[in-house]
Amino acid sequence: MHQNKSLRPLYFPLYFLLYFLSRNLNDVERTTVFYHFMLHEFFHLGQGISSYRYHYTDYAPRALLRVDYYADAVAALALYELYRQFHPPGWVPEPSWNRNLARLIRLAVLDMEVFTAFEHAYPLQSISWFSFRRYLQWHFQYARARQYGTDTGTLESFNLLETPDLVLGGIDAQDALYRTDTVFTKPQLLVIGWKAKLHEFSSEVENFAGHLVDAVLRGDLESSNRLFADAFFVHPNLVGR
Ligand SMILES: [Zn+2]
Repeated sequence: MHQNKSLRPLYFPLYFLLYFLSRNLNDVERTTVFYHFMLHEFFHLGQGISSYRYHYTDYAPRALLRVDYYADAVAALALYELYRQFHPPGWVPEPSWNRNLARLIRLAVLDMEVFTAFEHAYPLQSISWFSFRRYLQWHFQYARARQYGTDTGTLESFNLLETPDLVLGGIDAQDALYRTDTVFTKPQLLVIGWKAKLHEFSSEVENFAGHLVDAVLRGDLESSNRLFADAFFVHPNLVGR
């Protein structure tokens, strides 16, 4: 949506409200999204990011992507530890650590979506390189959390603070616009830089990259989770197996 920028602060509470009404969240989930938002912004203060540097999404997107990922990860880990110790009312813990983490990542993604919905027409038809890369990282971490081997894996070995680098279909131009109707021609390649290693995955699913773009734009973590499953089968070390 193109609004007068000076009026944006007035629009924001309305967006927040409308967005949450469109999502089926209970009270504790709504509060968690808000906590994630506050922790993320609070952490930015120490990172030297303030609202006047918001134009860095255009000017220095790779640098901002990196520090933004870190703020999201720290916020999610802080909530994980707080909830583990203090059991907020209404929050029924999952039986395993990775399920609890996946749940918090899902709510962190909702926090990001509020901002994207604020900047673009809603529902989303397309998003920028910056937003897409940011979501793709978190859809990947959600899928990792869902599928992480719990026999030997721990929260420490999961390593949420490690920034994943994902490149889809060989397309990584900073001026790229990712659309719901994207059809990528072959090769359907997903390249994942994780820790010190490069993981290359070539999918058999027709228009794999297009489906992944579609899942990200719809905020459909379950669809992207299924798409990542094949990549984890080929590279089991990504999910601690
Ligand atoms: Zn941020």
